[in-house]
Amino acid sequence: MKATRKVRVGDVTFGGSQLAVIAGPCAIESRELLERAATAVKSSGAHLLRGGAHKPRTSPRTFQGLGEEGVELLAEVGRRHALPIVSEVMDASQIAQMAERVDLLQVGARNMQNFSLLKELARARRPVLLKRGFAATVDEWLRAADYLLDGGNESVILCERGIRTFGAEMRFTLDLAAVAYARTRSDLPIIVDPSHATGIRELVTPMALAAVAAGADGIMVEVHPLPEQALCDGAQALTPSGFESLMQKLQPVALAVGRTVSFTPRAVAAVPALLEAR
Ligand code: PEP
Ligand code: MN
Repeated sequence: MKATRKVRVGDVTFGGSQLAVIAGPCAIESRELLERAATAVKSSGAHLLRGGAHKPRTSPRTFQGLGEEGVELLAEVGRRHALPIVSEVMDASQIAQMAERVDLLQVGARNMQNFSLLKELARARRPVLLKRGFAATVDEWLRAADYLLDGGNESVILCERGIRTFGAEMRFTLDLAAVAYARTRSDLPIIVDPSHATGIRELVTPMALAAVAAGADGIMVEVHPLPEQALCDGAQALTPSGFESLMQKLQPVALAVGRTVSFTPRAVAAVPALLEAR
């Protein structure tokens, strides 16, 4: 197994001993809600802020995102909180505006094999977060990453986000073995998105902990100040206090697998009580 390559996004390193945590709403809905989400995730120790501006929705009749205006809002809020930002680029026509403002360009599951988009992103001078397609094998995922790498973009991070299986209870099936398997085939950092993988708020924390135990280099979770009013994916969004609790629980798991973590003093102080409660 090759050592994991380090990918820098702003001042955050993916693939080092320290875990990277991306958090924020599914979609950017308004300045006020984004501001509340950013304040919450920053104070709990997240390292990057996520938020979709161009949303790949199953139905064209649902909220499609704020588009370029959303990208501007995310950039503004990220700057104010000193959080690098992550957002999905759905189409090559969006790259120019987004590459100027977004620190980590996300390729969504539905676009993993959009080869023309990958070729264009290979030329963008920005790191790319490549999510696994929900019907893609690990090898297809890694070959998709090759489009970026061979095209000249060496800053690629993989994200496992669940695959389609026969199980209908959860949104997808989180394939944690894929994290361990991809590790044996690739030197790219790998993170896990337990929010889209399960679609169920209560499952996000246990699966985030399992992902770290399985060797993930970080996690990406959806957090919304008012999940019941979210325009997109409210059922899987953590509340700010749910996210705070996840960050506290992450600490002992990360330490157990030899990762260092830069958690807030509040999270570190909570560890003895967490262990006591067991
Ligand atoms: C997302 O992260 O916003 C998203 C749409 O995820 P996925 O592409 O994995 O469905
Ligand atoms: Mn979502």
